[in-house]
Amino acid sequence: MLHRLRGLGLSARVFERGEGVGGTWYWNRYPGARCDTESVTYSYSFSEALEQEWVWTERYAPQPELLAYANHVADRFELRRDIQFQTAVTSAIYDDVVRKWTISTDRGEKINARFCISAVGCLSAAALPDYPGLDDFAGEWYHTGHWPHERVDFRGKRIGIIGTGSSGVQSTIAIADEAAHLYVFQRTPNYSIPAWNGPLAPDALHAVKANYRQWREAARYAQIGIPFSSNGKSAKVASPDEREREYEAAWAEGGFNFVMAYSDLLTDLESNRTAADFVARKIREKVKDPGVAELLIPNDHPLGTKRLCVDTGYYETFNRANVTLVDIRRAPIETITPHGLRTTTESYDLDMLVFATGFDAITGPLLKIDIRGKGGELLQDKWAGGPRTYLGLTTVGFPNFFTITGPGSPCVLSNMLVSIEQHVDWITACVEHMRNAHFASVEPTLEAENDWVKTVHDIGHTTLYPLTNSWYTGTNIQGKVRMFTPYAGGVGTYRRVCDAVAADGYEGFEFTYADGSASI
Ligand code: NAP
Repeated sequence: MLHRLRGLGLSARVFERGEGVGGTWYWNRYPGARCDTESVTYSYSFSEALEQEWVWTERYAPQPELLAYANHVADRFELRRDIQFQTAVTSAIYDDVVRKWTISTDRGEKINARFCISAVGCLSAAALPDYPGLDDFAGEWYHTGHWPHERVDFRGKRIGIIGTGSSGVQSTIAIADEAAHLYVFQRTPNYSIPAWNGPLAPDALHAVKANYRQWREAARYAQIGIPFSSNGKSAKVASPDEREREYEAAWAEGGFNFVMAYSDLLTDLESNRTAADFVARKIREKVKDPGVAELLIPNDHPLGTKRLCVDTGYYETFNRANVTLVDIRRAPIETITPHGLRTTTESYDLDMLVFATGFDAITGPLLKIDIRGKGGELLQDKWAGGPRTYLGLTTVGFPNFFTITGPGSPCVLSNMLVSIEQHVDWITACVEHMRNAHFASVEPTLEAENDWVKTVHDIGHTTLYPLTNSWYTGTNIQGKVRMFTPYAGGVGTYRRVCDAVAADGYEGFEFTYADGSASI
């Protein structure tokens, strides 16, 4: 965004809480952290030179490589001089008279700006369970989303990890390699698909690079921003033999495309069941102890409706003698004790606790900031019943305020890099349009917002996602409204909608001149 705004000749300043760039890849440095979208796709496309010069070493990049990439991009495009690190934004307040935002930071600064653009991310507000006793825990404890920069030593230690989502799955595998003993406290098993990660052969990388424009275009118009598609068929209609072949092929390919094996896996319960049964069989094959295998098999949600995990050796980890799976659904954790934790049935002595307990997702990071629009309206109040946006980019009452990967856009249902770039380009074009036409402010109409909220809801409810308690529906955070807020119609469809809105003279938006008169 900064690069694009500079390209327009505007002055821009970025505020960043961390000491460095990288966002997710800056904070989530837990052992085993890696992206589960393939590196050649999970990368910037805005600069051909950048995509040609950067060499990915693995099919799925590990966190240090992604952080190095973010740093390389920051250096290459000389971004740092306009980024203020170690600075948290505390409030953003719109002045309707001068049509400007005042941004305040935790360093006591106040900055005036015509535009305020949120790039706070969807998974950056870590959530910690409120078990009693944590303050008295004598050992070390960490949250995967706030992992320290220094190396954490697991050797010889009894470690408890709470949480079995993507972060828990990845760190379990890595910690088990070093710990004296690892207890995995599982409340809800999740589906995990093999990544088959490994070195990225120079030939394979070269093949993508030789054809990168086509590759990127395919990603931009694909369902989830990753260039693969389903066979277009319904799983429940296929014969059992046919399905087995299809699932085996998708399993052998690995990663997210498993859920794209058939076109209705995320919309039809019966079809979804066939994929879930296949994965259950795979888990039984991998895990030697049948009791442990049954515990690891999800039984309370359709496959893929909690974000799929992608792993290299997760289920096999439970064959190790130094790993114990503890079912805290059956016997919940009661309290953290000075030397471990106690469930309703047992006590565990632990030297370290790892919380892989997720995030106040999608709206969480934004709503932690005091954001006030016209008439002093608080965004928290406006969104008290759930987020309301037009295109996931703007919201009524908050002029000149844009949300990169905001709720109501494909955001977390997509390859984030593709979605981020699409929003950045759309916002850039809108700002340029305003400058050319001498508009001072832009805001969606209530009608456009109402229609979009309904569209997002209606499309979401053609899928199985709303059936499940998950961070997608907000149920992982106490008191949060239960609502499925991402746009589930697909990255390509969404892009076409956004492009059409812009091409139609920004249909659904109202532009205002500096003297307060509105455009027609
Ligand atoms: P998550 O998917 O929300 O998983 C949190 C886990 O903690 C769940 O197993 C949850 O159990 C458990 N939990 C939460 N509160 C608990 C409590 N009070 N007691 C016991 N268990 C509790 O969080 P995450 O693993 O950090 O992943 C979040 C998202 O970040 C992912 O879905 C993904 O989008 C992204 N991510 C991506 C990557 C990658 O690209 N490789 C890696 C990590 C994360 P319940 O299910 O029962 O609530």
